Amino acid sequence: MSGKQHPDSAHPYPFLPMTPADKPRHRHITRSFLFAAAGLFLTAAALAVVQPAQPPEPVYQARQTLDLPATGSATEAATPAPYIASTRIRRGDTVSDLLHRLGVNEEGLLTFLTHDEGARSIYKLYPGRTVQAALNDQGNMVWLRYAHTPGAAMKSGIQSAWLEIRPDAKNQFTAHERTTAAARETRVAEGEITSSLFGAADDADLPDAITMEMVDILGSRIDFLKDLRKGDRFRIVYDAYMHDGEQVGSGHIRALEFINKDKTYSAVWFTDAQGQGGYYDFSGASLKGAFLRTAIKFTRISSRFGMRKHPIHQKWTGHKGVDYAAPSGTPIHATADGTVEFIGWQNGYGNIIVLKHFGQYSTAYAHQSRFAKGLKKGDRVQQGQLIGYVGSTGWATGPHLHYEFRIAKKQVDPLAVDLPVARPLEAADKKTFAAQVEHYQPQIQMLARLQDSRVDLLAER
Ligand SMILES: [Zn+2]
Repeated sequence: MSGKQHPDSAHPYPFLPMTPADKPRHRHITRSFLFAAAGLFLTAAALAVVQPAQPPEPVYQARQTLDLPATGSATEAATPAPYIASTRIRRGDTVSDLLHRLGVNEEGLLTFLTHDEGARSIYKLYPGRTVQAALNDQGNMVWLRYAHTPGAAMKSGIQSAWLEIRPDAKNQFTAHERTTAAARETRVAEGEITSSLFGAADDADLPDAITMEMVDILGSRIDFLKDLRKGDRFRIVYDAYMHDGEQVGSGHIRALEFINKDKTYSAVWFTDAQGQGGYYDFSGASLKGAFLRTAIKFTRISSRFGMRKHPIHQKWTGHKGVDYAAPSGTPIHATADGTVEFIGWQNGYGNIIVLKHFGQYSTAYAHQSRFAKGLKKGDRVQQGQLIGYVGSTGWATGPHLHYEFRIAKKQVDPLAVDLPVARPLEAADKKTFAAQVEHYQPQIQMLARLQDSRVDLLAER
């Protein structure tokens, strides 16, 4: 779950760095067309901010007008817009791989990058960061930019920082560190799950970081590995940070609505009078649950095996636990703060950990291949902490996590029980909170109408 003060700039991580999968994708033209056809001009305008048109490949090239920062020289502004190539750093890349993918073939550039003190930061090849090059009509490099992940500078004032290399008059190169303010844009997105949450998120051009944040926000309400159904819907209002028409980072979710199995969950970020921030549902109940719904993190990978193998969770009767099929070695996380009550072997369970939580609650994680290094009886663990790895020890036909939720040492169905929730709103905060909800609810409702109109249009065809 997110920290204490966001989406205002005081959030501990005002930017979430983009991953390759965050690359915005083409929005389906047909869908935009349907909206327009329905006369929902407002809607179309709202969606228009969502998607710069770029193909999904990590390397792309597009001719575009450059909105050069003040550092650009006058002569350059007069020349035709250069050809921009952009690529994302992959694991194992070298600088020459990057230049090759960008189509940059400047004599002496690689030597310059290796030897120049100021250019050295390009050698910090963090996967996921972006390197761009502008080429003129003759294919000569106008500039090369290496986008630094929003780091220290970002935290203070939402800045975008990059290293810029340019050829100079003497056929040499110069390197400069540049910064500029990144613009924050509020975006809306909606989607309907047909095959998977990530599939729907990709269709909605939702950055992975935002999808994961949605899963985190509702992690105490929805077991995303087991509860998702075809037809589930989401509507999200979130922030994105832009520089030069490129998304340089995703901000955070401001409000959302998620309909799972006909039950509507809502969330809005709210900072109370004490400066404590958190997500609440529209009625003002905190979404920070004492227990997470699942011990296996929902990711692009886990979503695949979760959805495929267990579209409907197994029968509770005679089993006393919930099984999560997952490859051996998949990390297992504590679903709540607690203490290690048992760690070791038990007949049938194989390698098992039992955690004792507040009150009468305890949880058990069985069939593990191995435990987290150094973990022992009596250790305190926090919600979300890694405690072990999926395996098939004990009576298990294949690798899976057998998870038990126990009240007074008796197993109960965690998917059926209403789990305790923390911290309701103080009376003093209720008015400000109501105003916040009033601000976001119309946007969410607009998205809901949009989804409905699409469904209607499809039905009429
Ligand atoms: Zn089981």
